[in-house]
Amino acid sequence: MAEHIILECTECGDRSYLSEKNKRKHPERLSLKKYCPVERKTTLHRETK
Ligand SMILES: [Zn+2]
Repeated sequence: MAEHIILECTECGDRSYLSEKNKRKHPERLSLKKYCPVERKTTLHRETK
């Protein structure tokens, strides 16, 4: 079952990304390197809820 999650920038808290993940395969919080449009650089984005 894929579930929608929000990815939040760990540096400025901007929430620019929606993603999906399978909670059975990935029960832990996701962390991805993404481009932050606020800071205009690539930062770590973490699943939030
Ligand atoms: Zn940011």
